[in-house]
Amino acid sequence: MEKADIGLIGLAVMGQNLVLNMEDHGYHVAVFNRTFAKTEEFLAGSAARRKISGAKTLEELTGQLKRPRLVMLMIKAGQPVDDTIEQLIPLLEPGDVIIDGGNSNYHDSIRRTAYLESKGLLFIGTGISGGEEGARFGPSVMPGGSPKAWPLVKPIFQSIAARAGDPPQPCCDWVGENGAGHYVKMVHNGIEYGDMQLIGEAYHIMKEGLGMGADEMAAVFAEWNKGKLDSYLIEITANILAYKDSDGQPLVDKILDSAGQKGTGKWTGISALEMGIPLSLIVEAVLSRGLSALKDERVRASSVLSGPQAALQGDKAAFLADLHDALYAAKIISYTQGYMLMRAAAEEYGWKLNYGGVALMWRGGCIIRSAFLGKIKEAYDKQPELASLLLDPYFTTEITEAQPAWRRVVAAAAEHGIPTPAMSSALAFYDGYRRDWLPANLLQAQRDYFGAHTYERIDQPRGEFFHTDWTGQG
Ligand code: NAP
Repeated sequence: MEKADIGLIGLAVMGQNLVLNMEDHGYHVAVFNRTFAKTEEFLAGSAARRKISGAKTLEELTGQLKRPRLVMLMIKAGQPVDDTIEQLIPLLEPGDVIIDGGNSNYHDSIRRTAYLESKGLLFIGTGISGGEEGARFGPSVMPGGSPKAWPLVKPIFQSIAARAGDPPQPCCDWVGENGAGHYVKMVHNGIEYGDMQLIGEAYHIMKEGLGMGADEMAAVFAEWNKGKLDSYLIEITANILAYKDSDGQPLVDKILDSAGQKGTGKWTGISALEMGIPLSLIVEAVLSRGLSALKDERVRASSVLSGPQAALQGDKAAFLADLHDALYAAKIISYTQGYMLMRAAAEEYGWKLNYGGVALMWRGGCIIRSAFLGKIKEAYDKQPELASLLLDPYFTTEITEAQPAWRRVVAAAAEHGIPTPAMSSALAFYDGYRRDWLPANLLQAQRDYFGAHTYERIDQPRGEFFHTDWTGQG
């Protein structure tokens, strides 16, 4: 029997769709699933009459592969990945590659790369975004791990990935060593949290502040999708708002307003806190989900705690134009912060991240795909070492122009009691970032006062530390 180009373990929705996508591009795929019945069902169903062969055991799977063997895991992240790796090790030979395409934590991918390399094997931890649809027809693929493994998987990965840009390029490139791929995927997911929160805040203002109905809001989002905010998430928001339940009413109005979070947003926030990066917008987005989940408590509080009326007065069309700009400006801040985090992580973990390449990988295929990412790619292609997206001339101009509208929206929302944690924290970040002075001098004085933590003086060289006996008693 002809040997397979790659083996894939895990035939849940993502695994099945990736297999079909690989086969569409001419690759012979061998598949294995812990529960064999699922393999049989797949082979008899959507995999029938395709170059896809099944295996009942991992021995059988590895025996079906060309060398060096490529074995990709699309299974539940965490312990199942470690357990499966342990079972695979004795079945593989030096130079074979294990690829983990699940949503694994980057710390695990750093550990697994070192562990497998110590056994003479190669490892790739790759982020895959785009959900079921992306996996089937072109995801964004963010691989990192053992550099020697990249040339072996590159043709397959780049052929199945989405394409974007002009001329179109695959939304898949080498991200960096060990955990870099999963790190970039994690930041992608954090940015996804931020984008969704910003859209939610705009929706809240439209619904309660401007009293707009679902169809009217759908039309506004559809219009926004034709301009600078052109993106998958704005597009699906328009579709969701227009969608009617069986009784003809908007389905969105019947959905419980309580959101969960599965981990990647939280991991992004934790990484930012660990490295001291002001990732305020994404963190606010994660925390806002936490607040939404306190549904019962909020219902009780709503009859006790008062606030101003949500209804806004004035010219609706003008306010909607402001809202567009506020969302756009806050989105620039979110990506600025996300890139700051990646720069810090690259330094911390010794990765050479290609920031323009990351923007291209996110430009198509994934949930945060947008026209906007094309501009970010241009900015980093021009200046690969750009310290902050806000300092790129295009984005400096964009944020300067959007700024007055952004301030009006945040002020109006505060005045009318509509929460805008992401839009307003983004503005606070902007106002802090653009200052050459912040009140941290007072903070340093306080720390020195109560804890003798010392401080630096502006009239003395940096790195010299002073302590004052503030009370004269000590
Ligand atoms: P999933 O529900 O996360 O995982 C189910 C698969 O994992 C099944 O094949 C299952 O086998 C296998 N599995 C679970 N525990 C196992 C164990 N201890 N040993 C061996 N196999 C085990 O599937 P998914 O939604 O397709 O996602 C796969 C991976 O991709 C996950 O890491 C997920 O986070 C990531 N991902 C998902 C999406 C998405 O949109 N769904 C997008 C990007 C990334 P059985 O059939 O035997 O139970």
